[in-house]
Formats: sequence, structure tokens, C-alpha cells
Amino acid sequence: MGRILVLAEHNTGTLDTVTRELLAAAARLGEPAVVLLTGPGAGPALAGQLAGWGVTDVYLAESTYAGTRLTTPAVAALEAAVRLARAAGAEVSGVLIAGTIDGREVAARLCVRLTAGLISDAVDARLRDGVIVATVPVLGGAYTVEAVAKGLAVVTVRPHSIVADGIPGSVPDRDVPGGTVTAPIRLEIDAELERGRGAEIVAVHPRPASGIRPGLTEASVVVSGGRGLGSDEGFGLAGDLADLFGGAVGASRAAVEAGLCEPGLQVGQTGATVTPELYIALGISGAIQHRAGMQGAGTIIAVNKDADAPIFAVADFGVVGDVFTVVPQLIEAVVAH
Ligand code: FAD
Repeated sequence: MGRILVLAEHNTGTLDTVTRELLAAAARLGEPAVVLLTGPGAGPALAGQLAGWGVTDVYLAESTYAGTRLTTPAVAALEAAVRLARAAGAEVSGVLIAGTIDGREVAARLCVRLTAGLISDAVDARLRDGVIVATVPVLGGAYTVEAVAKGLAVVTVRPHSIVADGIPGSVPDRDVPGGTVTAPIRLEIDAELERGRGAEIVAVHPRPASGIRPGLTEASVVVSGGRGLGSDEGFGLAGDLADLFGGAVGASRAAVEAGLCEPGLQVGQTGATVTPELYIALGISGAIQHRAGMQGAGTIIAVNKDADAPIFAVADFGVVGDVFTVVPQLIEAVVAH
């Protein structure tokens, strides 16, 4: 069984849930080990959290460049980990990276460095005859293909597409007591990064706070608005409904392009993939590129004035009507209960 390296994603001192998903996939493919890139001194706490998830092998790069350069520190850390593992006699058969904007770039750069094969946007992966076979949706999710890479497979995995069963601990918890990772294998990458070039992060602009709303990809309820909401004001209806459920607000690309909301809210093929328990689509036609990002939701409700809108093909419940009539009634009914 080959070694499968997982690039840990973390934020403000806590591991992201996608790391659990990658670990669950890695456990099915071989012997998982985690590559952890942090700023100086931040490694042990995160390694402790990984131990709480049952991880025993961690390659740790504590780099002064971790928060100041885009993607190149992660590429350097992964490359160093692969080379170190190989030097120790291990066969590295896969590297799993979250399919985020940064993750996609890291994966592509790593493949060039290692002459590895790249499989992008996998939603599942398994071993067949010792080879990693990834499932990849194509054409906006209308088809899926099975993809294999020759030699080392670098796979970007779509967040929230893999159920993280088999990994202890249901949520990342900074209080998980340290477990078996007592001595992470240290990687030195700064000398190389000093020599190399890379895009520097000169300022970080936090996304404007959205009150108490949860993140789009973490929320159990998502209410998305489309071009049918017509204006900023109309788009506010999606927020009003989302807030009643403690949910997040999403959007179609047409709504984003019309300037009804910020781009970070886009759901779909070129936006976020969401799998909430409840997804409510308001004034969204249901183009295949939008459905690619939400059709995995538990229950889908659509409100659209066009009875033939494609969104109704994936909706569990549909209301044919004007959003400006239906949604206020819906809000009233929810409040009354
Ligand atoms: P429209 O298609 O214009 O639909 C608006 C809907 O609102 C209509 O169905 C209409 O009947 C309804 N409506 C209008 N007024 C009302 C009203 N008062 N009450 C009720 N209903 C009303 N799209 C995404 O969403 N996400 C993506 O990630 C994405 N990626 C793409 C990638 C590529 C390569 C391409 C080519 C396209 C992509 N798109 C994506 C765009 C996608 O094809 C659609 O254009 C887009 O999803 C349409 O958004 P919409 O449903 O809001 O707008």
C-alpha cells in the first residue's frame, strides 16, 4: 500500500473540516500522512488536533513565508515531504489537496515539480488493482468519468463531496487533547523559498462580516438568490429567509454578475459546492452549471415563476409563483411557527 499525503487546510488555529474529508479518502487509498504548513511555532497545536483525529504521521513545515506568499510555501512543503518519504524508502502513490482556489494552483505546480499526474475536482476516489481511481464530474455534472494518473496521482478533491466517516471527532476542535503525533517530521523549506520567486501577500482584506450567518459551505441551510430577485433590495429577501433558519446566503452566477451580491456567494461549477440539509433557490433558473454546486443538498425547494424552469427537475418541493409574493408569505408562515 502506498503512502497518501494530505495537505492540511486550517484557519485561525483550527483545522478545516475538509481536512477530515481528505483523511477519510486517504485511509481508503493507502497509508495516510498529513503535510502541515504553518507559521513559526504554530505546528504543535495543530499536530495535536490531528492526533485527535487519529493521525499518526505528520510532516510539518513551520515557515516564515506561510502567511506572506501565495501557494509556493505549500508546494515546497509537499514536494519536500514526497522527496523525504521516498528517500526513506516509502512509495508515495497519492497527494490529496482540497479543491479550493489555492489548492488547485498548489496541485498544478506540484505536478510540474514532481512530473506527477493531476486529477482535478474529484468527488470520490478508491483503489482498483492498486491504482487510484478518481470520480470526476464533467460538463457541469451531467456526466462523471473515472480518471487515473500514471505514477504519482495528485488529486484535488471537491470540498464536502466525501463523507468523513471513520475519522474520530465530528468537528475540528482546538481542545482535542494531543494524541499520538508527538514528533512530527520537520521539513525545512525556507531556504528554497528565499531563492525562489512567488506572489507576495501585501494585504489581507477580511470579507465584510455577514452578521451571525454561517459560512456558505458549512451551513445546514442555504438560501440562494438568482437574477429573478432583480435588485439589491430584492436580493435582501434571500437574506431575510436565511436568517430565519440561521442559514447562509448563496447566489447564482447571474446574480453575482448583475452586482446583486458579492462574488464569494456564488454556488455552482465555478463557485462553491454546497451540501446543506436544506437548499432554497429563489428566482434561479437551474442551469446545469448552478446545479453542479447544489444538487447534493438534502432537500431542495425552488420558487420560480416559470413552471418549466430546469430547477424544478432537481427540486423536492417547488412553488410556481412570483418570489416577491411567495417569499414574504413563506417568511410570515415560518415566523408564525
Ligand atoms: P437566469 O437564468 O436569468 O434565471 C432567472 C430565473 O428567475 C428564471 O428562471 C426566471 O423564470 C426566474 N424569475 C424571474 N423573475 C422572477 C420572479 N419575480 N419570481 C420568481 N422567479 C422569477 N451559474 C451559476 O449559478 N454558478 C456557476 O458556478 C456557474 N458557472 C458557470 C460556468 C460556465 C463555464 C458557464 C458557461 C456558465 C456558468 N454559470 C454558472 C451560468 C449559468 O449558465 C447560468 O447563466 C446562471 O446560473 C443563471 O443564473 P440565474 O438562474 O440566476 O439567471
